Amino acid sequence: MLDKAREEQVITLCQELIRQRSYSGEEAGVVEVLSGYMKKMGFDDVTVDRYGNIIGCIRGRRPGKKILFDGHIDTVPVTEEKEWTYPPFAAEIHDKKICGRGTSDMKGAVAAMTCAAACFAKDKDKDFAGEIYVAGVVHEECFEGVAAREISKFVQPDYVVIGEASQLNLKIGQRGRAEIVIETFGKPCHSANPEKGINAVYKMAKVIEAIRTLKPTHHPVLGDGILELTDIKSAPYPGASVVPEYCRATYDRRLLVGETKESVLAPINELLEKLMAEDSELKVKASYAVGREKCHTGNEIEGERFFPGWLYEKEDDFVQAVYRKLQEKGFTPEITQYNFCTNGSHYAGEAGIKTFGLGPSRENLAHTVNEYIEIEQLTKVEECYYAVMEALLV
Ligand SMILES: [Zn+2]
Repeated sequence: MLDKAREEQVITLCQELIRQRSYSGEEAGVVEVLSGYMKKMGFDDVTVDRYGNIIGCIRGRRPGKKILFDGHIDTVPVTEEKEWTYPPFAAEIHDKKICGRGTSDMKGAVAAMTCAAACFAKDKDKDFAGEIYVAGVVHEECFEGVAAREISKFVQPDYVVIGEASQLNLKIGQRGRAEIVIETFGKPCHSANPEKGINAVYKMAKVIEAIRTLKPTHHPVLGDGILELTDIKSAPYPGASVVPEYCRATYDRRLLVGETKESVLAPINELLEKLMAEDSELKVKASYAVGREKCHTGNEIEGERFFPGWLYEKEDDFVQAVYRKLQEKGFTPEITQYNFCTNGSHYAGEAGIKTFGLGPSRENLAHTVNEYIEIEQLTKVEECYYAVMEALLV
């Protein structure tokens, strides 16, 4: 159990992080607060990289494994401020809960990781094997796993702990996701004489129907590799008396373990080739969406929207070591998977680093009006993170 002073510390840090509004690309304020805390709490180094991720490090006196605690510090926007019972950036405490945008997703976890690392190092007088890193990661909400690439290059961790909400359960995998763009190219003309052109939207309608016949891939644990149409756009828009020459549809594809950029597009391309062979007027192309965003440092971050799935075994040594330690401390975690996408896509899915999720609060509080975190979840997850260091830094 945390003593009163440590409880106060994690609550205060969480509140201060919430008070810094930090939509994706605007995380400078939260980086400054976190940096101040890390330095004050005895972290050996605090680094801010070109994307504006903040990485604090505490080194043990003995060589050993590197463990990285990952928490994103951006939040989704508040769109309906009037609907919030309490102001979303005031971090008021009501009914043993801290209320505000980013409490559950996921500044509570970031506060707990930071405090747990500092407390662990202090209690051991740094007499432990290995290194502890706590990363406050930018641009996760629209771009999971991209800013994280910079962090894993810098830290080269042996283990990664993702702090996304799990109600103190252990998460050893997730489906990934990709955004697939389908484009059809037609020929514009006046809509009074449509036979003179090629209507790109009619062509797209045909393509969409055909794509619906594709069978999703399947994984016994992670479920279906869903392919769902999420938006469609034609050009010119609006098309006053013009037959559209261009149409673009976006698909959300959920990715299973082992699926690659090539293997995911292959059946779609095969289908498109077949359609084009049947219709000489059809011009259609499939590709991955590319995201481009500004960072709070002024630099650009860019990447294809392809975030792989990942899954470890319950029996894996590191999973069992953490599981047993948590049980020893009186916790009763279940070992399951995340239902959403996290930075684990990069660490586990791309870089093959041993990764698991362990976070406070419920995932269905993320992105909601009146988001909150129970103080009990916040203090308990700090104890869990402390236990993770005891289990892995030996
Ligand atoms: Zn999140």
